[in-house]
Amino acid sequence: MSKTWPDNIARKAVLGFKPYSARGGATNALHLDANESPWAPPPVTQTGGFNRYPEQQPAALIARLADLYGVKPAQIMAGRGADEAIEVLLRTFCEAGQDSILTCPPTFGYFETCAAIQGAQTLLAPLRADFSYDGDLIAAEIRSAGRGLKIVFLCSPNNPTGHVIEPNIVTDLCQEFPEILIVIDEAYAEFSSADSFACQINQYPNLVVLRTLSKAYSLAGARMGVAIADPRVINLMLKVLPPYPIARPVEQAVMAALTPAAMPVHEARLKLWKSERTRMAKALSASSYVTKIYPSEANFLLLDIVEDEALLRALGKYQVKIRDFRQTLPGKMRVSIGSPQENDIALSAFGVEVKVVRPARTAEAHRKTKETDIAVRVNLDDAAGTKIDTGIGFYDHMLEALAKHGGFGLVLSCQGDLEIDAHHTIEDCALALGTALSRALGDKAGAGRFGFTMPLLKPLLMPMDETQAQVAIDLSGRPSMTFKGAFPTDHAGDFPAEMCPHFFESLSQTLGASIQIDVEGDNTHHMIEACFKGVGRALAPAFKREGTDIASTKGVL
Ligand SMILES: *Cc1c(COP(=O)(O)O)cnc(C)c1O
Repeated sequence: MSKTWPDNIARKAVLGFKPYSARGGATNALHLDANESPWAPPPVTQTGGFNRYPEQQPAALIARLADLYGVKPAQIMAGRGADEAIEVLLRTFCEAGQDSILTCPPTFGYFETCAAIQGAQTLLAPLRADFSYDGDLIAAEIRSAGRGLKIVFLCSPNNPTGHVIEPNIVTDLCQEFPEILIVIDEAYAEFSSADSFACQINQYPNLVVLRTLSKAYSLAGARMGVAIADPRVINLMLKVLPPYPIARPVEQAVMAALTPAAMPVHEARLKLWKSERTRMAKALSASSYVTKIYPSEANFLLLDIVEDEALLRALGKYQVKIRDFRQTLPGKMRVSIGSPQENDIALSAFGVEVKVVRPARTAEAHRKTKETDIAVRVNLDDAAGTKIDTGIGFYDHMLEALAKHGGFGLVLSCQGDLEIDAHHTIEDCALALGTALSRALGDKAGAGRFGFTMPLLKPLLMPMDETQAQVAIDLSGRPSMTFKGAFPTDHAGDFPAEMCPHFFESLSQTLGASIQIDVEGDNTHHMIEACFKGVGRALAPAFKREGTDIASTKGVL
C-alpha cells in the first residue's frame, strides 16, 4: 500500500504506535484525573537573565536537587519531567529495531510509548493478580530475553495501582543482571512510607531512580524531573539530553518552591494529602459505584467500578474528571486525591453523603528577601501540628505560645541573616505571619469571612507571676499598635526586648489589626511572654468561627 505525505518518509515505528494519552491543560472541571497537586506552588521570584542561554544542567539547581534527594550532583540528570528522563534512557541505550525494554503491566504507559518511538520492543512481566511484583517472573523473562534487553522499568508506588515493590526484588535484579539498567520510577515516593532507592545508587552502577517535582511539589506545569544514577550512566545520558532543556523561569520556579524554608510547608501539605487519601478510601467504600478500593501509597486511588455509565453521568453532572482505565483494565478507574473541598465534591459525585463541614481556614505566606527566607502555614481551625524554627530559641518559644493560646496551627520556618542580628528575622516572620493569618481569615470563599466574633478592643488581662499584661485587639483591617511598658533588661535569652513591641507593630501591619498592649513587671522574660500569650488569648475568640450564621457578624470587618 502506498503511503501519502509525510507518512511515506516517516519511521515505520512512528506510524505504528498509539500516541501516549495525557490530558495537559485544564478546563473548568474539577481535575482529579492526572494526579496533580490541588495547590499552587510557592511564588516565583524574578531575577531576569533571560537574554542568556541557560546551562544544560544549572549548577545551583542540580546542587539543590542533589541535596533534596540525598545524592551527589554528579549522580543527577535534570530534565523536563521524569518523562524526559525516560525518553533519554531509551534514546541512550536502545538501538532502534534491535533492543528491548521490560515493563510490568498494569503500569505507567509512557515506558512503552517511549520504547515504541525509539523502535525498541517492550517485553512484559505482568504484576500478579493482587498487583504485587513477581520477582521470579521478571528474572525469568530477563534470562529468556537475551542480550537485546537493555532496561527494566519498575514503578513504585506503581501507577495506576498504588502498590510499592518489595525492596529485595530490586536489589536482587541489580545484582543478578549487572548489564541491564534497573529503573525505578518513584514519581510518588513522597506519598509513600517506603524508602527511596536513591540511597542505594552508590552500591549498584546499574540502578536508576526517577523522581519528579510534578506531584508532591505541585510543579507539574513547570516540567522538572530527574534521573539519579551512577555518574557514568548520567554522563552518557547528558550526551543525548538536548542542550537547554531547563528554561530559566522553570529553574526559578523550582528554586522558589524548594527554598529551604518551604520544606516544612511541603511536609504539612503531604500530611494533609495522606490523611485525605485515608478519608477518601473510607468514604468511597460507601459508594454504590465502587466495589473495591485498592490500597495506595500514592496520591490516587484505583477503584473497581460497577454501573460505570451511571457513574460517568454523575461525574459529568458534578464536573469531576477522573481517569478511566476501562479500555485496558476492565472496570477500573483512578481518582486523584485533591484538596479537602475538591474531594468532597468528588464524593458527592460518587453518591457518598458528605457531612458538610466548612473547609478549615488554612493559608500560606512565603517571603524571600536577601535577609530572610520564610515560609508560614496557618490553620485557624486546627491547632495541631505546630512546628516553628526561626533559629532564635526564645522567639520560637514565643511564637509557639502565640499559636497555642491563639488556638491556631502554625508551621513557620525562617532562614535569616542571624549573623548580622535578630532584627530581620523577628520583623520578617511577624510580617509573614500576619499575611498568612489575614489570608486565612479573609479567604472570602463564603463561609469563613464573617464567621468569627470580633472582640472590639475589649481588654484582656494576662497575669504571669509578678507580671501583668493588658491586651486588646481589633481585627478592623486598619493597622495600629500601641505599647506601654518598660523592660528592666535589654534581652530575654537571644531575643532583644525592643523587638517585642516591634513584633506586634509588624504583625498589626499585615494582619490588619489594631493591637494595644500595656505590660507591667520586673522580669523581661515574663513580660515578653505575657505579651505573646495575651495577644494569643485575645486572638482566639477573634479567629473563632461561630456556627453557620453568616449574617450575624456581617459588616464588622
Ligand atoms: C506522573 C508520572 C510521571 C511523569 O512525571 P513528570 O515529571 O511530570 O514527567 C512519571 N512516572 C510516573 C509513574 C508518573 O505517574
